[in-house]
Amino acid sequence: GNKNINAKLVLLGDPGAGKSSLVLRFVKGQFVEFQESTIGAAFFSQTLAVNDATVKFEIWDTAGQERYHSLAPMYYRGAAAAIIVYDITNQASFDRAKKWVQELQAQGNPNMVMALAGNKADLLDDRKVAGFGLQEAQVYAQENGLFFMETSAKTATNVNDIFYEIAKRLPRV
Ligand code: GDP
Ligand code: MG
Repeated sequence: GNKNINAKLVLLGDPGAGKSSLVLRFVKGQFVEFQESTIGAAFFSQTLAVNDATVKFEIWDTAGQERYHSLAPMYYRGAAAAIIVYDITNQASFDRAKKWVQELQAQGNPNMVMALAGNKADLLDDRKVAGFGLQEAQVYAQENGLFFMETSAKTATNVNDIFYEIAKRLPRV
């Protein structure tokens, strides 16, 4: 039978990494070059059909600013899934993404499905994540039980796919 699953999902990551743009792409199929920065957090919902289930994502798009850090647990507590976003042209955003992963591993729901999104994949020429870049992120994700995709909210590359992969991995109750 077809199951209906409600899944709270939180997006975390540095301001400017593209969290809101990924959500806007997924929910509305749109992209804007000058996306306004998020104040506090914004809520969206979107439904996705996978083979055996219909998943209704309840999406919390957080601001990412350090001054809102103390609010973050409100959004990831009880979340079934998280997308940790960094900008592939910004090493600091990758370092920050790893901090979010550590925080979720320590404080989040132990069964949380976690995805790492290396966003702005359309800007490959600007790749600045040091060391191996793509490979470094792949290894990091594997070692930490996340799945990893490079995404582009601008071109839509891998945006539906990352939500689809999460939907497939959610526990079927
Ligand atoms: P947030 O602070 O993490 O929510 O990031 P935003 O979604 O506000 O995006 C920050 C800036 O990066 C905006 O100017 C977006 O247009 C731009 N941006 C977001 N995603 C992409 C992408 O995939 N490719 C490119 N080239 N720019 C992007
Ligand atoms: Mg935002």
